[in-house]
Parts: sequence; C-alpha cells; structure tokens
Amino acid sequence: MIPSDDIGATQVLKWQDGKQAVFMLEFDDSAPSAITTAIPELSKRGMPGVFYINPGNPPFLALEKQWTSWSRDPCVILGNHTFSHVGAFSVPQLDDELARCNDAIRRLDPGCKWPRLVSFGQPGGVPWNVSPEEEAALLAKYRLVKRPPFWGCPFQTQSGEAVLALVDAALATGGMGHHDFHGVGGDWHSTPLEIFLALLDKLDANRDRLWITDPVSWHQYATEREGAVVQAAATGPDAIEVELLTAADPAFYDLPLTLATRVPTAWRACRVVQGRSETTVPVRDGAAMYSALPGGGKIRLRPA
Ligand SMILES: [Zn+2]
Repeated sequence: MIPSDDIGATQVLKWQDGKQAVFMLEFDDSAPSAITTAIPELSKRGMPGVFYINPGNPPFLALEKQWTSWSRDPCVILGNHTFSHVGAFSVPQLDDELARCNDAIRRLDPGCKWPRLVSFGQPGGVPWNVSPEEEAALLAKYRLVKRPPFWGCPFQTQSGEAVLALVDAALATGGMGHHDFHGVGGDWHSTPLEIFLALLDKLDANRDRLWITDPVSWHQYATEREGAVVQAAATGPDAIEVELLTAADPAFYDLPLTLATRVPTAWRACRVVQGRSETTVPVRDGAAMYSALPGGGKIRLRPA
C-alpha cells in the first residue's frame, strides 16, 4: 500500500484496473464450433477470446465469411497458428507459414494498427524441425509473441472441476490462468459445452477480481510494468504531476498501465489528464486509480 502521508506517491498496479489475477481463453485450429458456439457465447458476455486460426485450411475456408464478420467484434482476437497447420520443415517454409497467417489476420481486421504484436500458438501433433533459435528469430521478425504452453481439454483437463479449479488457482496466486480449447461441444479434442459454459459463468461471477484478457495484452502489461518508472514531477494541495516511463518499445507496448496515486484527504474525486486523454475517477481510501500510457507525457491530477 502507498504510505498515507506521502501525497503524490504512485504505484503501478500489478494488473489492469487493480484486478487480483488474469485469465485468458484460447481457441485453436479455427474449429467450426468457434463460429457456431464459442464466439457467440463470448460476445454475449462481452468477454474476449483469442482464436488461433489456420487460414489456409478447409475448416477456416468453409466459414471465411463468418470469420470476416466476427473478427470486427472486440471479443474476437486473432492469433497466428500458422497458415496450414502442417508443422515446420525448414526455416523458409515456416517463414512462409507465419507470414501468410499474419497477412490473413491483417486482412480480417483492416482497422487494426499494423505492425503490431500478434499471439503465436505453435500447432501441435505435427513435426517441428526448426531449432529454438531459428524459431525465435522468425517470431521476432513477425512480432509474434509465444503464448503459454497449451493447457486444456482433453489433454490436461478432463473434468469440469479441473477446468474451474484453474480460475481458483489464478485468484489464489494473483497470477495468470488460462484454458485452451479446440472444439467446443463438438469438432475435435472437444471440450463439452456444459464445461465451457460453466467456465464462462465462473469467470463472469469473478469479474470484479479477474482481468479477463488475451495473451498479447497480458504480455504487454507485464513487460511495461516490469520496466516502469514513476517519477513525481510536482506535488501541491491542488495539483499533482507524475510521469510514467517504461523501458519497453512504445511502438509495440502501447497498452495503458493502471496507476494508483495518493492524493490529499480533501479530494473526493480526481480529474486525470494525460495528453488528450481526460477522465474523472473516484478517490478511494485516499488514492485515485487511473490508467496512463507509459511515455505518454506528464499526468496531471486535480481535485474534481
Ligand atoms: Zn492446432
């Protein structure tokens, strides 16, 4: 906690909006049930999921129109699972597989900033004949961020209890939990529909404590936070100025961090200005919690 007498003292909170833990939902292979089941359920709840697509494969091509229209939904984040899920045979062939999948992702969401970080999920059950160094060089070339190792039905979790326990574990440790899917209620390596829905219900019930997000945002937040330095620029009874800097490259690490600043006891609410962004936030327990962009210029706080 921030010392109560230290007006202007500022802390970068561990997770966005001061949430206790992180949870991520990931879906592989552009399985048809992503379109028929998973995406509509996520969209209904306003909950994000990452879809690791294979845009060269029949399941994707058969539903390309639906993928195109759903990819505009803020709940649908696309990840690179290679163009055709055949594996890696050589550096040039993997280069081509990654490039073509990224091109499809860019085409599916033309409004999205580019270049940007994209999550990478290595396809399983296929040969992978490139060295870790060769793979790392290609991932860096295409700004791909490797996701945490696959964890899901029917490989690591076989029951509803095991799936729901992942949420409890994330909350207990204050860290990151995730569940990875192929089919939902059908298709291959399927997660039964009732388990999927029970997981969404549990996540929904814990939204005040969980940051439900995607692997790129999680990676950006943690990277920016680790390299973050907060400097108190000026402190007075009617204004506080702080500056947030980070070692991360601002071209790719542009996710706002959540800060908490100790403010004078007389302040009931706080006006926060950084660049063109202006918000009013409540003061709770003597501190104002707000989001700010690292390297985005001075942050000015005033009583509101
Ligand atoms: Zn796969």
